[in-house]
Amino acid sequence: MEFRDLKKQYSTMKEEIDSAIKEVVECANFISGSHVYNLESKLSKYVGTKYCITCANGTDALILALKSWGVKEGDAVFVPDFTFFSSAECVSICGATPIFVDVERDTFNISVNHLEYMINQIIQGGRLTPKVIIAVDLFGQPANYSGIHLLAEKYKLLVLEDGAQGFGGRIDRKVACSFGDISTTSFFPAKPLGCYGDGGAIFTNNDYWAEKIRSLCIHGKGRDKYDNVCIGMNSRLDTIQAAVLQVKFKYFIKYELEQVNQVASWYKKYLNNCICIPNVKKNYFSSWAQYTIVCKSFDEREKIKNELLKKGIPTMTYYKKALHEQIAFQGKCIMDINYENADYLTQRVLSLPIHPYLLEEEVFEISKKINQITS
Ligand SMILES: *Cc1c(COP(=O)(O)O)cnc(C)c1O
Repeated sequence: MEFRDLKKQYSTMKEEIDSAIKEVVECANFISGSHVYNLESKLSKYVGTKYCITCANGTDALILALKSWGVKEGDAVFVPDFTFFSSAECVSICGATPIFVDVERDTFNISVNHLEYMINQIIQGGRLTPKVIIAVDLFGQPANYSGIHLLAEKYKLLVLEDGAQGFGGRIDRKVACSFGDISTTSFFPAKPLGCYGDGGAIFTNNDYWAEKIRSLCIHGKGRDKYDNVCIGMNSRLDTIQAAVLQVKFKYFIKYELEQVNQVASWYKKYLNNCICIPNVKKNYFSSWAQYTIVCKSFDEREKIKNELLKKGIPTMTYYKKALHEQIAFQGKCIMDINYENADYLTQRVLSLPIHPYLLEEEVFEISKKINQITS
């Protein structure tokens, strides 16, 4: 069994993907071009933002967003403590200071209460300027944006939505990657919408930021690539990746999103009460980048992981370490003395196989094994 079965996905859309790749190779236009612009216009239409700007990966997307806002040394950027490293790495790359915020135990997303507490800590500290809240749509479920935007308005902060795992999620009818002043996503192969290499995108309604990001992506270009008005990056989505994504996006919205939710509902049906299953809040819709259960203890987690592996069922531990524990951030961040929920989760979480092509009998088999171990 595969954790995320990309081979099975390919086999269902092989002809279209092969011909899309072939077309790019035959035209020998490997960077930018109509495939990239068509993809951007499809994605911005789907997300509901005025602009979509593709780039080389989801980490660059975050860096480009912060750079377009001029985030720099002396600025404080609030980041959930339980997420992938990139969500905070981008802050340090810009020279600013990441401020770690605890998460909610049931949704894994940033805790609005602890966020306000940390904002006040920084204001009272008087050393850093609070600038940005980075909210992550962890494992596919959007963060609590109504609460986040209230704080953003109260303290005059910008909101950056890290939707690397959230593409395809929703709150009511509002689609993920439309919740931030700027939002970003990743097309890394294992993300909800993945390409065949690295890729990323940035979404916004703001004309000035969009123009700034378009420039920063291509060496800070002015009128063209050889007229440079600021120090930028080289961060573009390959044309081949754009061609692959156009095919994959079609099936993503046609049935994959629905199907992966069906898989999650099978887990809910077959896993018994001995394990804590992920909670999707009312009116929230997840794109299920991961299906993460919370075990009773570290030992139970390790036992389930090992027993499943013996049966050929792969699992992953997203995440074993909270950001405040990462060596890279020691002395380069601001942390609270206590991250109760992040610490609780790093000891107990376990992500199970999930993808749109997982079968009901496979979910039943995985669930049965877990039920046996935990009861
Ligand atoms: C994957 C991921 C990123 C980075 O995306 P890349 O395309 O791998 O650079 C950023 N944030 C989160 C939450 C992610 O899961």
